[in-house]
Amino acid sequence: MKVRTNLLKDVKNHYLRELEKVYGKKEALSLLNIIIEDFFGLTKTGQILEKDFRLNETELLKIHFAVKELKKEKPVQYITGKAEFYGLNLKVNENVLIPRPETEELIENIKNELSSSAIKKIIDLGTGSGCIALALKKVFPQADVTAVDISENALKIAMENAAINNLKIRFEQKDMLNTDELNSLETFDLIVSNPPYVTEADKDKMQNNVLKYEPHAALFVDDNNPLIFYKSISEFAKSNLNTGGQIWFEINEKYGNDVKGLLEEKGFKNVNIVKDLFGKDRFVKGKR
Ligand code: GLN
Repeated sequence: MKVRTNLLKDVKNHYLRELEKVYGKKEALSLLNIIIEDFFGLTKTGQILEKDFRLNETELLKIHFAVKELKKEKPVQYITGKAEFYGLNLKVNENVLIPRPETEELIENIKNELSSSAIKKIIDLGTGSGCIALALKKVFPQADVTAVDISENALKIAMENAAINNLKIRFEQKDMLNTDELNSLETFDLIVSNPPYVTEADKDKMQNNVLKYEPHAALFVDDNNPLIFYKSISEFAKSNLNTGGQIWFEINEKYGNDVKGLLEEKGFKNVNIVKDLFGKDRFVKGKR
């Protein structure tokens, strides 16, 4: 099937029919609106108003290839290279997870709980795109924020995101599972992490776009040791969290009580599970 003319309206209708087969009408339209806005700077309304907008050959090809990727269920954020998080415009690629709305809730919870005057030093472990570290720097501008990741490629993106958003944070390439490496860092008033927490057993509930394209190292843990990152980070926090400081985790909804137990075992106080907007156990916090 060929595109009838090179008028944006016709091109859009053509690709809408292609995408509908995979996504249904509503989502197909929304995905097309996103890529057209990104490629040609035309908002949703602009696309309707600019009735005579025509695409040249290069522009047509750009849409053609983007739609081809979308049909293979590639997340649109990896096509545009952009994602929004807590009001920040972030760059993303397949080396980092696309920031999730739950993680915005994590920031909001921390913001509501902690007074900015008490927080001087913050560390985010497993920063990926840098979303948590950068959002916290925005919320607590006076704090020194350190962002840690094992992946050099992820750190590259996180550094670009700091520059794009004009936020100054420090980056460290370290392995969260290596307690000696972590313990060599100084002490902090807030330790936060959204580590890999999806088990093999959860895989069949996951969507193709996540499974096929997002970095598995950032998502998955071994079914036999699903709390491996939490164990290592809480051990680090035992020695590197200042008195009066807090530790916050994003968690797999299945393990609320286990992570809570783990923090209590390590001697943290006021350990609580916090639910997300869907009523699922999603965060665990503790104090020292
Ligand atoms: N919430 C993410 C998902 O469901 C997982 C994030 C993580 O593993 N830390 O895809």
